[in-house]
Amino acid sequence: MTRIGQHLSSCGLRSTPQRQRVYAVLIENRDHPTAEEVFLRARRKMPGISLATIYNCLEALVRSGLVRQLTLDRGAARFCPNMQEHCHFYCDCCGKVFDMPVPTTSDLGLNDAFKVERIDLTLHGRCPDCHLRPASQCAGQTLTFNQ
Ligand SMILES: [Zn+2]
Ligand SMILES: [Zn+2]
Repeated sequence: MTRIGQHLSSCGLRSTPQRQRVYAVLIENRDHPTAEEVFLRARRKMPGISLATIYNCLEALVRSGLVRQLTLDRGAARFCPNMQEHCHFYCDCCGKVFDMPVPTTSDLGLNDAFKVERIDLTLHGRCPDCHLRPASQCAGQTLTFNQ
């Protein structure tokens, strides 16, 4: 059994080739793809796989705690295989999502009377690939300039 297959089994998930493929896609490129992007990537090595199967696999992975699902403002759900506590940086230019370390309570200026149990924080801006790019070359559909 492959390493990914073993990992799925150790999390109580029956390891099918489709699930392994979907999980591998998420691990290979951690840019937080949507289900449709996962589908396009998975299909390259597994041409017969259907979008419905992708949805089923993603749901099973999320249920087993191997993958988390996130939804950013507008837009489709995205999938992240990083189960450590982390925040996200959303590039408004290319639409990629990056993992960021979680700020500490002192970074946030909170006093001890507040007990943080969960952090759900998304930073918006431009990633290193995009920060010098003129706004007109941004692929993101969310930006509107000179309206
Ligand atoms: Zn970018
Ligand atoms: Zn993430």
